[in-house]
Amino acid sequence: MRDITDRRRVEQELVAARNEISRQAIELREKVAEHTRLLHQTIGELETFSYSVSHDMRSPLSAMRGFAEILLADHSTQLGADGIKYLEKIDVAAGRLDNLIQEVLAYTLSLRGEVKIEPVDLDALVRQVIDTYPQLQTSEVEIQIEGPLPKIMGTEASLVQCWSNLLTNAVKFVAPGTKPLIKIRAQAIASDIRLWVEDNGIGIAPNDQVRIFQMFARVEHVHPYEGSGLGLAIVRKAVDRMGGQFGVESTVGNGSKFWIQLKGACL
Ligand code: ADP
Repeated sequence: MRDITDRRRVEQELVAARNEISRQAIELREKVAEHTRLLHQTIGELETFSYSVSHDMRSPLSAMRGFAEILLADHSTQLGADGIKYLEKIDVAAGRLDNLIQEVLAYTLSLRGEVKIEPVDLDALVRQVIDTYPQLQTSEVEIQIEGPLPKIMGTEASLVQCWSNLLTNAVKFVAPGTKPLIKIRAQAIASDIRLWVEDNGIGIAPNDQVRIFQMFARVEHVHPYEGSGLGLAIVRKAVDRMGGQFGVESTVGNGSKFWIQLKGACL
């Protein structure tokens, strides 16, 4: 009799403990969901804030550049050689700031909006990106496309961001005096397509190969290269949002091979 009573008591305690644990688990799940919602809301507000600040900074900046240009065009005789030189420096610095703001806007845009994954004709898209940039024209650079490139599943706007950044980097980070050579090719990996952008540039040290995909991460070089350190962060975000992967293989002094990998598609 005593044995059964004890067992009943233990069983009741066990049931009570189990009920208490599942009550606490539900409470914890609700708390996590609420905190996640608040976090997303705060991130959204911060993104909107940084987008509008960046956007609003462009108009006074363009006024400054415009007036500097008027001064240069109409009053250069009164300015003298030094005056002209300083004004040109102001214009160059303002241009750099404008590029940085545009990159920040592009980065913010890569975080926002709906990502609709659909079949994209990559061959046409890559050729269209190449046509957009003066530094990618045949007089400046040799671009070999092992094509036609396949159709892939992605978002056109995000893919334009990826290819613009990868291709302009490939022509930028070359040793002075070297004519850039870019090779673009696709590799099938099961149902995925890995797209390669290979260059004959300065290469990237192993320690920097992961870091450079972070925001504002740049590598110090003997020869200075213009930039904001946002291009590859945009690539990372865009590829993440399309559910793909990215990476780089490189040897210092021997070029780099950047890749992005997405699902293949049949149009
Ligand atoms: P930015 O080009 O504005 O500096 P990115 O985010 O595009 O910023 O690139 C980050 C850094 O990665 C660059 O400063 C450069 O050091 C390195 N990098 C990017 N692409 C290449 C490349 N194709 N070859 C060598 N280094 C590169």
